[in-house]
Amino acid sequence: MTFLKKSPWLLHYDASSCNGCDIEVLACLTPLYDVERFGIINTGNPKHADVFVVTGGVNEQNREVIRNIYEQIPEPKVVVAVGICATSGGIFRECYNMSGGIDQLIPVDVYVPGCAARPESIIDGIVKSLEILEEKRIQMKERARQIKQGRSPGGGER
Ligand code: SF4
Repeated sequence: MTFLKKSPWLLHYDASSCNGCDIEVLACLTPLYDVERFGIINTGNPKHADVFVVTGGVNEQNREVIRNIYEQIPEPKVVVAVGICATSGGIFRECYNMSGGIDQLIPVDVYVPGCAARPESIIDGIVKSLEILEEKRIQMKERARQIKQGRSPGGGER
């Protein structure tokens, strides 16, 4: 965690979860698991978030909401799919209105297994996502530096 330059904030969205995974996400925020010790704060504002945590799969009602929240989160950002429903639709995948996991809609960086996902797995997934977030931040900085120097990000002069 020493690689982090700032406290990462996360936004949790319950897509179509049965609430099992939601309870476990909340448990991560309670004093027992206490993710705040890593400086991780749960925010309700997508514009303040770095990590998008989603529980439950995609259905016709939440499709636009997931996309909308994702697009409001500034770059760089990472997405964590928590539980088998967010990963693939899980036990609800055959339902008439389900489309499957959230990677049907938005790119997912980390998949957390389980039904329900255990708090230890969720914290592990979030810590992994923070490493990816930091890599993305470095790549963005490098791209911006290259553009400033008049070179295209893929190499070569512009
Ligand atoms: S993975 Fe299991 S506990 Fe989590 S939302 Fe789906 S059914 Fe509920």
